[in-house]
Amino acid sequence: MKEGAFPSAARRFAAVGFSEIVQVRNRVLELLAAGHEVWRFEGGEPYMPTPQPIKDAMTAALARNETRYAPSSGVPELRRAIVEKVRSKNGIPADDESPIVVNGGMHGLFAAFASLLDPGDEVLMFSPYWTPIVDVVTYHGASPVLVPTAQARREGLTAALAARKTVRTKLLYWNSPVNPTGEVFSRAECEEVCAFVRENGLALISDEAYEDLIYDGSPHVSPAAFPGMFERTLSVFTLSKTYSMTGWRAGYVLVPKRWRVPMRTIVLYSINGVSTPTQWAAVEALRLGDAFLQEAREGYRRRRDALVAGLRDAGFELEAPRAALYLFPRAPSFLGADSRQSARTLLDIARVATVPGLVFGPEGEGHLRFSFSVPEETIAGGAEALKSFAAATSQAR
Ligand code: PMP
Repeated sequence: MKEGAFPSAARRFAAVGFSEIVQVRNRVLELLAAGHEVWRFEGGEPYMPTPQPIKDAMTAALARNETRYAPSSGVPELRRAIVEKVRSKNGIPADDESPIVVNGGMHGLFAAFASLLDPGDEVLMFSPYWTPIVDVVTYHGASPVLVPTAQARREGLTAALAARKTVRTKLLYWNSPVNPTGEVFSRAECEEVCAFVRENGLALISDEAYEDLIYDGSPHVSPAAFPGMFERTLSVFTLSKTYSMTGWRAGYVLVPKRWRVPMRTIVLYSINGVSTPTQWAAVEALRLGDAFLQEAREGYRRRRDALVAGLRDAGFELEAPRAALYLFPRAPSFLGADSRQSARTLLDIARVATVPGLVFGPEGEGHLRFSFSVPEETIAGGAEALKSFAAATSQAR
């Protein structure tokens, strides 16, 4: 019998990239498999394991046979705990029906963009940015419009946004603290951006993945806490970074009333709810209190400072970032301005794995991203390897 041709994959994938960070990871795995030692800074995960009470809560949920379908927007106990948390900690005037439990921040963001975007829409976003967002926006047939952060800060945020807004602009993607730079937008900056969003009739998708990883004591600012903003903001939170729960896949989105039906629909048809025992573990996470976080932040701060010192020793010029898990220095001149080439050289010769800055937008070119959320031995070993590499390179010249 004659076999027919195969249909092609959906056209909307044509312009969508697949994470370059995964490509770096694959190359690292190849080197490891070949028996090389590699100092790994390319990841983005909390360095410590999930706290025991959270694991116990999942075991207890299994023992109670909490193993059936939950309501697809989340178990009521978890949604209540979320409302309490965001009202008291974030100052967001969330109502009882606003939280929708999602399968981690990535899923929450995907569902948020899916709820709002039509083909042809434009999305304003500061750059450097977290890589997947451009792909998610493109997947929906919409266009990312980059606003270079450093330039916008010099010119004024409102002017920079106004210069890039068109009749097609539908929403603004906001991420603070920022992956990859570790910067935090100030309260005044957040307020200014919110005013722009409100005055121009836009929506805001606020990615607050790193809300708890701020090291200088300054409080996290949630855009939905500003007057009139809850109604036009989808606030996306995740338990991944705060509670060392990257592999559990748990997060939540606060959705104002007018967008709840599409958001619930996409969650229903994509996952039909997060795993029920995971949701019970999430209830416990939200009850944990601040002691765990204080200890975690202490460990992050120590690692950040050690890696900053190590990189400076190897000839990098950088300041310690205020938040998140990453250093994002400009590569020193012995590495050159092509970040893909520098990252490749560092990996192949010094066996130090980083992510090329270009992956985070044109504004990231010339930079490398190092995660400092790694074992302290990796920081010591990696810094030594970088120093030897820098010394050997300068001798060779
Ligand atoms: N937003 C940002 C800025 C991130 O860096 C990440 C994780 N790297 C996420 C969202 C999503 O994390 P998760 O899907 O694990 O919740």
